[in-house]
Amino acid sequence: MNDRTALVTGANKGIGKDIARLLAAEGFTVYVGSRDPGRGKRAVEEIGAGARLLVLDVTDPDGIAQAAAQVDRLDVLVNNAGIAPSLAPPADTPVEEFRLAYETNVFGVVAVTNAFLPALRRSPHPRIVNISSGTGSLTWSTHPNPQFTPGSGGGAAYRSSKAALNALTIFYAQTLDEDGFKVNALAPGLRATDLNARAAAGGDPAEAAQGALRLALLPDDGPTGGFFSWDGTPVPW
Ligand code: NDP
Repeated sequence: MNDRTALVTGANKGIGKDIARLLAAEGFTVYVGSRDPGRGKRAVEEIGAGARLLVLDVTDPDGIAQAAAQVDRLDVLVNNAGIAPSLAPPADTPVEEFRLAYETNVFGVVAVTNAFLPALRRSPHPRIVNISSGTGSLTWSTHPNPQFTPGSGGGAAYRSSKAALNALTIFYAQTLDEDGFKVNALAPGLRATDLNARAAAGGDPAEAAQGALRLALLPDDGPTGGFFSWDGTPVPW
């Protein structure tokens, strides 16, 4: 099939732009989701052949509906747009910060996914990739060898929003399974992007994008409802 289409939200920079670039290189027509038309246009020009601008703020219901109306069939949806407001623990996090993080990282994913489901249902092999985070793994956060201790890898609002996104990944996978959907979550690993002020310890975002591409191209007998590291290793919930 050489007319496959993909949408990557928040694809004007960072990991999302690299995911869009890889999908375009695979021959997809890629809708580069960007809430800012100027930033999106620059990314589309940079990616080149196959890339199309789709103005999309994942927190704007009217804008989501308008964007969905422009896409007839969608083979791959990558819910990548995300924000990380602060590194604060819950006791120092105002409720408003939780609302802010959840609005983009959780409610935005539900709104975009549901709006694009009709287009995904027109695909013979629909794939949804949720860009989560290892910091949202409750197992890694606790027992037996915590990889993410309080204060590392993001604040309470961010980390709990990614845990919620993981839960949604499971629920979507379980309920969309009959339609041939594959719905999985990716833990990209620490990457030097604007999200973390280009953390010195962060790796290349393009490497993380390879993990998203793998989940976007899963064969029909591939996994669904899973959580994977960028290199394909399963991540515990
Ligand atoms: P960046 O900050 O570089 O990119 C985030 C993207 O999301 C930008 O394009 C941004 O657009 C977009 N975005 C934010 N809010 C909205 C919105 N309301 N509507 C549409 N787009 C929006 O971060 P990363 O590339 O690092 O992050 C990508 C994903 O990877 C996120 O979900 C993040 O949580 C996850 N992740 C990143 C890690 C890392 O170490 N970098 C580690 C683990 C997970 P704009 O330019 O307009 O702000």
